[in-house]
Amino acid sequence: MDGVSFDKLRSKLVAERTKLSTRFEAVDDKITMLDKLEAAVSEAKALIEDEVLMPPGQQTPDVKGKKMCQRCKKAKNLHTDFHRASRLKDGRASWCKDCVSEYQKTKTCRKCGAHKPKTEFNRDRASRDGRFGWCRPCSLAQSRKYYGNKGK
Ligand SMILES: [Zn+2]
Ligand SMILES: [Zn+2]
Repeated sequence: MDGVSFDKLRSKLVAERTKLSTRFEAVDDKITMLDKLEAAVSEAKALIEDEVLMPPGQQTPDVKGKKMCQRCKKAKNLHTDFHRASRLKDGRASWCKDCVSEYQKTKTCRKCGAHKPKTEFNRDRASRDGRFGWCRPCSLAQSRKYYGNKGK
């Protein structure tokens, strides 16, 4: 082999390498594009999740430190509006304090299953919460039935 063919070979190799490196650059570009796409998709996902979790009108620019109450569906302050609940992931109850105190004023009738204010239940000193397990209409219906049958 003479020097000329070596030069030819060298220039051919350099040309191939340039071609290859431009191809690599193209691949790099595509990877960058994919990264950008992935970021855009996760951003869009986060936006959609915010939209779903927070009803319109209750979206706050500062979502940090806020939590949506599972009962009234309002975004409230995580640290001041929710009771502590160490078992839960964020350490706070899923209902806000307002909803909890509202719920505690109510009772579920063991007969009809209706959720009513405690005042709708007759007082019962023997019971733990001081009220009968059945609501007034259910108790009344039951006593009517009982006395009605007795009277026959
Ligand atoms: Zn609530
Ligand atoms: Zn009832």
